[in-house]
Amino acid sequence: MIFFLILLFIILAVICFITRSAHYIPVLMYHRIADVKNDRNSLSVEKFAWQLNYLHKKNYHTITLDMLYDFYAIRKKLPSKSILLTFDDGYADNYTAALPLLVKYKMTAVVFPIGNWIGKKNNWENLGKEETITMTKEQLLDWQQHGQLIASHTMTHPFLTNCTESKIIDELHDSRQLLSNALSADGDFLCYPYGNFNESVAAAAKRTGYKAAFAIFEGINLFHIDLYALPRIPIPSHQSKWEFILKTSRLFILFIALRKWERGFKKWRRKR
Ligand SMILES: [Zn+2]
Repeated sequence: MIFFLILLFIILAVICFITRSAHYIPVLMYHRIADVKNDRNSLSVEKFAWQLNYLHKKNYHTITLDMLYDFYAIRKKLPSKSILLTFDDGYADNYTAALPLLVKYKMTAVVFPIGNWIGKKNNWENLGKEETITMTKEQLLDWQQHGQLIASHTMTHPFLTNCTESKIIDELHDSRQLLSNALSADGDFLCYPYGNFNESVAAAAKRTGYKAAFAIFEGINLFHIDLYALPRIPIPSHQSKWEFILKTSRLFILFIALRKWERGFKKWRRKR
């Protein structure tokens, strides 16, 4: 009896949380599309193909950054089951492995290349990462030719909260300029490296002309949409099918909430 009462309480609490939480659109966060051992940020092509096929079969609509912005800013309607696909850092395998699948399913995605690391080896990353290369300028142009999008991810991929104010402004301003000058991209949207930001970083994003910025879990407001702290859902290498289905369902906000609270709890424990 007591078990059923506890279960009922949990179910009611979950329903209450979901109905009262902000109506975010799910934004998936990918990095490499490749089979790399011991790299949680690399998803195999097979798994990625399964995921796109699932989204296609279930009638999901991949939307653009402008559509997402208009939905949040002016409540412009979105197709049912809207979702945004994003790729961090601009790895070459996004072009060679992901693009053919995106084209096959007529889907749109956004890539966030790092300004100073276009068409280079991935030497900005920590030691221990498998060496690879990033998309060249020509590949980024062709990516756009195929209806895909590009947005800013700073010039050098720093932890922005560790930077001086002028360094933050340079990182955000220069990458925005680079995208609009070299790639004729809008440069209206930003992705914080490592999802790392605070109030002054968000204010700098606003000041340098960005319309919105993507984070991950930390700093997310679960009850109010903040255009400069949009949550994203990481899709790691070990992503199981059932969890992917959950992450793209209406319950995804619960997943974000749990990860946010888990991080908060770990931080609190470290401080004690
Ligand atoms: Zn990154």
